[in-house]
Amino acid sequence: MNYNFELGPIRPPSEAHSILLRVTRNCPWNRCAFCPVYKKRKFSPRKVDEVIQDIDAVAFITEKITGTIAAAGGGGEDNLDLVGQLAAEENIDRDSIHQVIFWLRCGMKSLFLQDADSLVIKSGHLVKILNHIREKFPSIERVTSYSRAKTLSKKSLDELKKLRTAGLDRVHIGMESGSAKVLEKINKGVTPAEQVLAGKNAVAAGFELSEYFMPGIGGAELSQENAVESAKVLNQVNPTFIRLRTTRVIKRTPLHQMMVDKKWTPLSEIEKITEIKLFIENLKGIESKIVSDHIMNLIEEVEGRMPEDKDKILKVLDKFLKMKTEDKESFIVGRRLGRFRFLSDYTPSARIEKIKAELKSRFSSLEEAIHQVAQNY
Ligand code: SF4
Repeated sequence: MNYNFELGPIRPPSEAHSILLRVTRNCPWNRCAFCPVYKKRKFSPRKVDEVIQDIDAVAFITEKITGTIAAAGGGGEDNLDLVGQLAAEENIDRDSIHQVIFWLRCGMKSLFLQDADSLVIKSGHLVKILNHIREKFPSIERVTSYSRAKTLSKKSLDELKKLRTAGLDRVHIGMESGSAKVLEKINKGVTPAEQVLAGKNAVAAGFELSEYFMPGIGGAELSQENAVESAKVLNQVNPTFIRLRTTRVIKRTPLHQMMVDKKWTPLSEIEKITEIKLFIENLKGIESKIVSDHIMNLIEEVEGRMPEDKDKILKVLDKFLKMKTEDKESFIVGRRLGRFRFLSDYTPSARIEKIKAELKSRFSSLEEAIHQVAQNY
């Protein structure tokens, strides 16, 4: 038996402690203008038997590691000899062993189905995979997956309930925008009505639902529209989480080309905060938790539950917007260079001022400097 298992490239930040199980390879859509992840890679579903073999491989490695540790009297997950011994004895690659060791250290609580849209496979196949996960790892607390809203919108409520019953707990949807114009511009391949249907059905089926909103993705041309229309979609869905993913223009993406061709104008860091403020102001009648769990978000304190934390979030945004321009710029520089995590961390410093002056002299503008720094995130 082959005890190695396949890994895809990404997972949501909130799944950092999850073991990754690849159900499909790459993205069945792969045309979103801002997204570099799977470009030039072909989508393919994996055979159910292959995925089940990977689940068995994770279970085997887990047993081997826990057995070896127990035989040695406990502890020792950090022991490199253990990795070498397992790799040699069972012919398992070190990446697979390290993944499982990390998962063990994190308590083996969650599992994430890769890649971009696991729900695109037949629901019956996914139910088989979920059943096998639950059989092999009965103590797992959470199984989650990405899905496209378009895919979810085509599933019946009954199908979704079967997936929920089989043990899929949470679905992550990259909504990005609720504006029809923005969705068309970024080639998202879904309409706001489909997003509402997908989101409402996911909630009705009993999933925890994470919806991702991208401040700035409408560019300067559609900034207000992006904020207001996205809030409108989310107000109808009432997802468990609304996660902010501030737009980053990555080189060699269609969005970058649109920017070069002057068909899409990026917002400045400050304008993105103004857009987030308008978005939060327009969230109404929901109980979602706002989460800022990505390094590209400028202000990490934009977090809290609706409606009780709405004023608190708006106050943080106002605090930033009312700062003097030079302080705003210094905070942005410090944040982007990793010197500040929160707005509340900000204090003027000679060092940041020096870096800011250097960046301004090296690049055509501070925004351009930040754009270059963000390429490395
Ligand atoms: S659906 Fe997701 S993974 Fe696929 S291209 Fe769009 S953003 Fe990228």
